[in-house]
Amino acid sequence: MQIIANYINGELVAPVNDKYIDNYEPATGQIYSKIPESDEKDLIAAVESAKLAKQSWAEMSAEERSILLIKLAEAIENASDELAKAEAIDNGKPIGFAKAVDCYRSAANLRFFANAATQFASESHGMGSVGVNYTLREPIGIVGCISPWNLPLYLFTWKIAPALATGNCVIAKPSEITPMTAFIFSRLCIEVGIPKGVINILHGTGASIGEPMITHPEIKAISFTGGSSTGKRIAGIAAPLLKKTSLELGGKNPTLVFADCDFDSTVSEVARAAFSNQGQICLCGSRIYIERSIYQNFKQAFIEKVSRLRIGDPLDKQTQHGALVSKPHMEKVLSYIELAKQEGGKILCGGNQLRLEGRCSEGYFVEPTVIENLPLECRTNQEEIFGPVCTLQPFDTDEEALALANGTEYGLATSVWSNNIKRCHNLARELDFGIVWLNCWLLRDLRTPFGGMKSSGVGREGGMEALRFFTEPKNVCVKY
Ligand code: NAD
Repeated sequence: MQIIANYINGELVAPVNDKYIDNYEPATGQIYSKIPESDEKDLIAAVESAKLAKQSWAEMSAEERSILLIKLAEAIENASDELAKAEAIDNGKPIGFAKAVDCYRSAANLRFFANAATQFASESHGMGSVGVNYTLREPIGIVGCISPWNLPLYLFTWKIAPALATGNCVIAKPSEITPMTAFIFSRLCIEVGIPKGVINILHGTGASIGEPMITHPEIKAISFTGGSSTGKRIAGIAAPLLKKTSLELGGKNPTLVFADCDFDSTVSEVARAAFSNQGQICLCGSRIYIERSIYQNFKQAFIEKVSRLRIGDPLDKQTQHGALVSKPHMEKVLSYIELAKQEGGKILCGGNQLRLEGRCSEGYFVEPTVIENLPLECRTNQEEIFGPVCTLQPFDTDEEALALANGTEYGLATSVWSNNIKRCHNLARELDFGIVWLNCWLLRDLRTPFGGMKSSGVGREGGMEALRFFTEPKNVCVKY
């Protein structure tokens, strides 16, 4: 049984209290490793080491920091087979997806921000013959990064890369449900020679170590990705402490399909948008609205496509649809399918837990599920399910499609499928979402602002937004 360790002051260490929680393999339902249930004592040690590292890391040139972060990106690439396997075991996602998406992006995050920080410039504001202002953008100091389980190393590195690149020391907490790749990442930090204390990784639950990170006076900013209810709680704790926060939260994303779309490619991409990573991506399109004239044809083609997804052992390279991340999460998803039936929904395909043969017979597998006949107002269409469940609904006009899309408390991401360029741009302007994809989904450019409106979050990550978040601007005013 593998025992996971914290990473503090450049070393792998056991939690001070010697308490551990069980780590389950979702595909088998078996406990396969132990995770530290860290607490304030571990946090004190991590903060002390970050305090010692802070000045020299902040004073290091952007180029020198960049060289180290690129080494870390290369180390992730070199370890990508090991990391993909670890992610598949820990999370239940197909190993092919873990390699192509999770590992690829984790390295790309580090490389992108390593390069971006060397190009980061600040502003000046001339006052004619009177004087000039210039802005210094300095590291904040010690920052906290808290990430979720759905894209474990991908989102972990998405936060810590810009924090480190801009000269901050980081205390990071991966999800206690998927800690393994962050643990392997600790080893890679040691191997490439990241200075002691610059990154500290603490494992444990939100209650045991997450909240102490929010309240610790030396941690000046918090970058959080997770559920909207957790985000609201963190905002409530951090606000009176006047801490800077970036909150990337849940979604209930609509997909708008118009009759003039490219039919075949739209069917494929809308299915990918709904079911990638077993529907456990915050950006997945789970409410699919289809123009009435093509509703029946689209529905049939979509169900055929979804029914062909290969469900299986995440370690099998042919698998397209793996296990859900945990038993409680699987039960939550199944309870929403029951709720959908009670609300009058008609199950078009899927709808059940799946029992596989052999090694995976106790795994947390749920069939990709498509439901129709549900109104916008019902709970199935309003609440985030975060699993392989989507609903279909016809619409008649652009105005109706827009009202349906905007009709929940969330505003993370949406996609529009149409060859009418005027309609696409008009809708993009009217849709209340942080991300609008026109005839594509999850096409990412790391320079763009990333995040949601309404209950989907506060602040943006990505590119300049992240570099600005992790720096404190200081205006210097000079009179000639
Ligand atoms: P979660 O909110 O339960 O947990 C996220 C992280 O916060 C975990 O590391 C957890 O241990 C920690 N945490 C929990 N309670 C805490 C507390 N009180 N104080 C500090 N830390 C605490 O979310 P999850 O179930 O891990 O992830 C799924 C959610 O994340 C979904 O809602 C999904 O939409 C969202 N998500 C959003 C984005 C985005 O970019 N907007 C990306 C991925 C996932």
